[in-house]
Amino acid sequence: MIEFDNSYARLPERFFARVAPAAVPEPRLLAANSRLTQQLGIDADWLQSEAGRAMLAGNWMPDGADPIAQAYAGHQFGGWVPQLGDGRAVLLGEVVTPEGARFDLQLKGAGQTPFSRRGDGKAWLGPVLREYVVSEAMAALGLPSTRALAAVATGERVVRDGFARPGAVLTRVAASHIRIGTFQYFAARDDDEALRLLCDHAIARHYPQAEGPLGLLRAVVAAQAELIAGWLSVGFIHGVMNTDNMAISGETIDYGPCAFMDAYHPQTVFSSIDQWGRYAYAAQPQIAAWNLAQLATCLLPLMGEREAAIEAATEAVHGFAPAFQAAWLRRFGAKIGLANPTDDDRALIEDLLGRMAVERADFTRSFRGLSTGRARDEFTEPAAFDQWEIKWHARLAGETDAQGVMARANPVRIPRNHRIEQMIEAAVAGDMDPFEHLMAGLAAPYDPAPEFADLEAAPKAAEIVERTFC
Ligand code: AMP
Ligand code: MG
Ligand code: MG
Repeated sequence: MIEFDNSYARLPERFFARVAPAAVPEPRLLAANSRLTQQLGIDADWLQSEAGRAMLAGNWMPDGADPIAQAYAGHQFGGWVPQLGDGRAVLLGEVVTPEGARFDLQLKGAGQTPFSRRGDGKAWLGPVLREYVVSEAMAALGLPSTRALAAVATGERVVRDGFARPGAVLTRVAASHIRIGTFQYFAARDDDEALRLLCDHAIARHYPQAEGPLGLLRAVVAAQAELIAGWLSVGFIHGVMNTDNMAISGETIDYGPCAFMDAYHPQTVFSSIDQWGRYAYAAQPQIAAWNLAQLATCLLPLMGEREAAIEAATEAVHGFAPAFQAAWLRRFGAKIGLANPTDDDRALIEDLLGRMAVERADFTRSFRGLSTGRARDEFTEPAAFDQWEIKWHARLAGETDAQGVMARANPVRIPRNHRIEQMIEAAVAGDMDPFEHLMAGLAAPYDPAPEFADLEAAPKAAEIVERTFC
């Protein structure tokens, strides 16, 4: 069985809409995450039982589930949308682990809700399996992320881009689904009472040490600075950093047309809907800061006298840049073997990145190659690397564990776009082997493993994926 304790559903009615997931005709369990089940304290056998599978399909709700669609607003590509909300997701409830940590269980692709606008509320297999693989890979890389508990094929057809695609439902696990957009929803309605309740709820859930709205803001700023530096350190591009896709918890959330870079370039964009590169790789820190400024604005009504509140909130948001810079230096320093990088090392790191950008060197392979002597192979003009290497070696003198530091900071394998596309194509044809292979290979991404050499390789010219879709 599964036990729920639904703190969000106990908030006032205007925080959500009660809605049951839509039943689906022919549910088929495609994947279940037994390791996550264990961490959550959910019985893995029960989850795969008839009852468990019916729950994962949205066809049956256990006692204690209290399915809701959460209300939120947001800035989408900078444009204000006063009402978004869960249009294709239903929060079943919250589980508390044996260690006392609380997690949301959400079905994504569970049918229409009062927030669906013109959407069908459904998801298709491609995005469901992409989110499954990438979110689990992110967690295995050691970065905060929502998790994937299960994927179910529904037996329905979902029309996307003019094609009838196989429908699917993802069961997502998150520390919470509270977004910057959740605060914006109530701030836009001048609902100070709801803002206060949401603020208290978020503090109790994620930052029990934080004091009041300013404490919450500072904590979210710190968490996001860490997260974005983490993304950059593995070459991740979220793709849709709208304020409704940024979690208060500091977890990566709402994997859409996201991607890990192969060849390095700071202006890289994959998302088909990001026409102007607003959410390009190197733009992500500034966008995070902009989003956090929106959160700060929402919290002002709770922060007392206006002028003083603005000053304190501004200072908190300005804390993002130094926090991000420190996290970036720590992570990229480690990537070149420096256990305690200082500001003087920034130029050395930037120099390597600049050469990589010119040479379109593979991000993951170049950094990992620093440990194996193969980094120069990623440069069409190896001399460009050799010049840098001389300076690097000079700096490394005196470092006692450069190899170990690099091995822990530079993954061997990432979920590369072309492997994900190939996996989706196979899954649509009924072959889940590539999915299993990806999941196995990405479970321990820092460990060399010859049986997963195919996941290490950069795409061949014909395999390169330039655009990703939601
Ligand atoms: P996203 O940026 O993809 O996380 O979604 C933005 C908004 O669109 C959210 O409010 C989603 O719930 C909503 N949405 C996306 N796809 C659908 C769909 N197929 N049906 C209904 N709502 C959707
Ligand atoms: Mg309501
Ligand atoms: Mg979203």
